[in-house]
Amino acid sequence: MSTNYSLRLSGALPVPITADESVYSLALRKLRGAIVQNPIRIFCALLFFSAATLAQTAKFTVGTASAGPGEKVNGFIEVPAGTDAGTRIPVTVIRGKKPGPVLALVSGAHGTEYTSIIALEHVIQHLEPGEISGTVVVVPLVNLESFHQKVPHVNPVDRKSMNRFYPGKLDGTQTERAAYLITKEVVEKCDYLIDLHGGDLDESLRPYSYWSKTGDAKMDATTKAMVLAFGLDHIIVVTDRPRDPIASRYLESTASTRGKPAITAEAGYSGTVETDDVNALVAGCANVMRYLKILPGEAKPIDSPVWLTKVDTIPSDVDGIFYPLVKRGTYVEAGTKVGYVTDYFGKTISEKSAPVAGVVLYVCGVPSMKKGELMANIGEVGKPE
Ligand SMILES: [Zn+2]
Repeated sequence: MSTNYSLRLSGALPVPITADESVYSLALRKLRGAIVQNPIRIFCALLFFSAATLAQTAKFTVGTASAGPGEKVNGFIEVPAGTDAGTRIPVTVIRGKKPGPVLALVSGAHGTEYTSIIALEHVIQHLEPGEISGTVVVVPLVNLESFHQKVPHVNPVDRKSMNRFYPGKLDGTQTERAAYLITKEVVEKCDYLIDLHGGDLDESLRPYSYWSKTGDAKMDATTKAMVLAFGLDHIIVVTDRPRDPIASRYLESTASTRGKPAITAEAGYSGTVETDDVNALVAGCANVMRYLKILPGEAKPIDSPVWLTKVDTIPSDVDGIFYPLVKRGTYVEAGTKVGYVTDYFGKTISEKSAPVAGVVLYVCGVPSMKKGELMANIGEVGKPE
């Protein structure tokens, strides 16, 4: 029986063939016919196909970690020595075989916010290239010296917070050089970013995330969906983060001012690594991956979180010994005493109350108290506009 098949490339005329041709000669003949009929369109299609194939097979590189499709590769972002010592920030690139967005997960800017670091260690160990579409870049420990020396808040090398000097500069101190390289290697190469934090060694903090509104409706809709997918039940709405990409200060605003939707989430406190807190951060990252279609399955956003539209800080006005009167997560009325400070002989020299009703997001977790440092933070419940 003689059968005629035809190859229908758009705009090409059918090329009649006979059934006894081999598959290859069949394909070649079809292609030849199509090229003769419409060379420019075919050329463009081939070009597009080659570019797409190249993009899919080319290595994705962050620092010394270079991963092809289906690979999980570890490496370092090498921060060269400058006015002070160099450092190397660990990074893992997990690359799916299927195409998809690039999500960056970062923690340990404050190297003793252990829960966030352990959560990303878990992601590095358990997220496999075979299960994702796209790429996940994990930077679990930005501030190595803080971690090793057990120094909270700052990088002990230059005494700077590693989440306040973005986008950084190459001729600055270690923190600034690290910020510059994270901006180049991580922020500029990703499509979305999550920055993880938590209560530091001296901070008794309840879990919450930040939704930073930028005024860009599309960006804000995406970050709202991300923060709801992350799933922490208390969300602080921030409207005053920097909008200038060259003065972005925070990692999250470094991403958002460069057009990359980003959120920040915090869990863990006072040097502890509680299973529930670690799980909350890991599950949050995984659910954002579902929202971004990096992981299969349906993202289940949290239904009705508590939105916190203002955060009131309660600083101490004296040096001394701090005694808390509330716990993290406690809901207080305006006037509820949150803590007091004594001199070194036990005499109360200062007592502070909540200025408004709200939830204790954080209360100082140690007796050390210096004038100007925070006794507690109170989050005011509100509705996001
Ligand atoms: Zn932090």
